[in-house]
Amino acid sequence: MKDLPCKGCKGLCCGPVPITQQEKINIKKAIRKMPNKKLLELKNQPRLLGTCIFFDESRDQCGIHSERPSICRAFGYYKNLVCFRVPASASSETYIAKEKPIGILSIDFTWDHFRK
Ligand code: SF4
Ligand code: SF4
Repeated sequence: MKDLPCKGCKGLCCGPVPITQQEKINIKKAIRKMPNKKLLELKNQPRLLGTCIFFDESRDQCGIHSERPSICRAFGYYKNLVCFRVPASASSETYIAKEKPIGILSIDFTWDHFRK
């Protein structure tokens, strides 16, 4: 899959996303491994209302990139997850999650849920 030109979007498509139990566990582990300075810097960034709690505004990228949820990985490449800037990257396939989500990141789960 061709990379999308995400730099410059400033989290345009990074809103609340569904996560699975395993994804929650994986994110929790990634947060736990983060150096405290980096963690606090990411956590305390001001974000526009609706922007994902893990979006790194200062670096213009996902703050948990290696552990981002599957829907974030799929975004831009399916007809029901069309990238606003490069709609032609979407295939004719429909994205269907492999596992049932347990809730919505940024709404049901905040930073506190990943630090306990
Ligand atoms: S997927 Fe598309 S809209 Fe989202 S950040 Fe990347 S280029 Fe921008
Ligand atoms: S987890 Fe990362 S890629 Fe997914 S919405 Fe949040 S900031 Fe964007």
